[in-house]
Amino acid sequence: AARLCSGAGGEAEAAGGDGAMLRHLARKLRASGPVTVAEYMREALTNPGQGYYTRRGGVGESGDFITSPEISQVFGELIGIWYISEWMAMGKPNTFQLVELGPGRGTLTEDILRVFKQLASVLSKCDVSVHLVEVSPKLSEIQAGMLTGGKVQLNPEDESAYMKGISKTGIPIFWYRDIQDVPPGYSFYLAHEFFDALPIHKFQRTEKGWREVLVDIDPEVPDQLRFVLSPSRTPATQNFIQPEEKRDHVEVCPEAGVIVQRLASRIEKDGGAALVADYGHDGTKTDTFRGFRNHKLHDVLSAPGTADLTADVDFSYLRKMAQDKTATLGPIKQREFLKNMGIDLRLQVLLQNSGDTATRKQLLHSYDMLMNPEKMGDCFNFFALLPHHRVVHPDKKDKPESKSPLPPVAGFNELLLK
Ligand code: SAH
Repeated sequence: AARLCSGAGGEAEAAGGDGAMLRHLARKLRASGPVTVAEYMREALTNPGQGYYTRRGGVGESGDFITSPEISQVFGELIGIWYISEWMAMGKPNTFQLVELGPGRGTLTEDILRVFKQLASVLSKCDVSVHLVEVSPKLSEIQAGMLTGGKVQLNPEDESAYMKGISKTGIPIFWYRDIQDVPPGYSFYLAHEFFDALPIHKFQRTEKGWREVLVDIDPEVPDQLRFVLSPSRTPATQNFIQPEEKRDHVEVCPEAGVIVQRLASRIEKDGGAALVADYGHDGTKTDTFRGFRNHKLHDVLSAPGTADLTADVDFSYLRKMAQDKTATLGPIKQREFLKNMGIDLRLQVLLQNSGDTATRKQLLHSYDMLMNPEKMGDCFNFFALLPHHRVVHPDKKDKPESKSPLPPVAGFNELLLK
């Protein structure tokens, strides 16, 4: 199963693992008191020694959760077409960077690069490079294997990239730990199931006002963690709760906000677009923090470092953090986006070209996973950042020639490739 959406808790799988991360956290909590959920999540996922992504990686059938690009090649192909369609709509600039945040096993980039190769005649005069932002050494190694056949150079001295190589299709690829290390320039950004992995703060409304949910050690049971409420307001309750907030329980991901601000500034300055796909909501959901291990729900406080921890993305917050530097589109449901991108036609072609029943069955099954509203069709969403001039004409008085209608943005509207 995929990490199907929402519903925290449930029948969670119990503890396990070698307990090194738990011992590390327990020591820290005993010494200096409870930590925010964000701090707990950051330690559990990306601690350089024991973090879940650092050590386990998790993505894929043999891992803890499976994602759309791992389910069907069609997913990445349609996203590749989205970038080509935007590149054409923006006047075919002669160079662009494809920048992926959190590329997992590298499958999505691999499928996109295959489309770029198939459309090489269209892209022939365009200089394309790939830039991957990945904190996990384990996953970057898997990505290098997938995309370059493992032929990479570590730590090139003159660059901020920690690794570089050439894709099997001949495109240069660079790896970074932070979006700020990616060189400026016209860029198409991609974040698929990335923002949901970033640390969230959790808040609870009480009779005395907003309190932050913290993680503490349980005094009754050795080495067991529990949630507690902050006794008073914390800097985060003051900074992150909107005065007009109606919910009783709120999750905020400031790191996602900072990254969206960076993407929006870069797009405003150098051009390009960002496509964000994830499960999420538009500022309505409350308690979505959950864990996954071996494709099953896992208690978020049990055996940290051995399970994926995740929370739904709040797209209303991302929109706010773009701060009008760019236009935003969406969120729209995955099944609508993929339908607009022509998934039905692509499925028909693949079915016609496949001789054996097993392959046809597999194609239909993966289509159902991606599109069925009960599976990934409804709870996964697409959201885009685009330069204002891409969706609204600049002042027509100054530019009378710009009166012709702007081409619709594919995915959010039907794809019209000329
Ligand atoms: N996009 C992939 C993988 C999603 S899993 C897919 O859809 O299959 C989340 C990815 O984000 C992993 O590659 C993980 O190592 C990476 N990641 C998590 N936190 C990160 C951070 N703070 N900075 C960069 N990458 C991060």
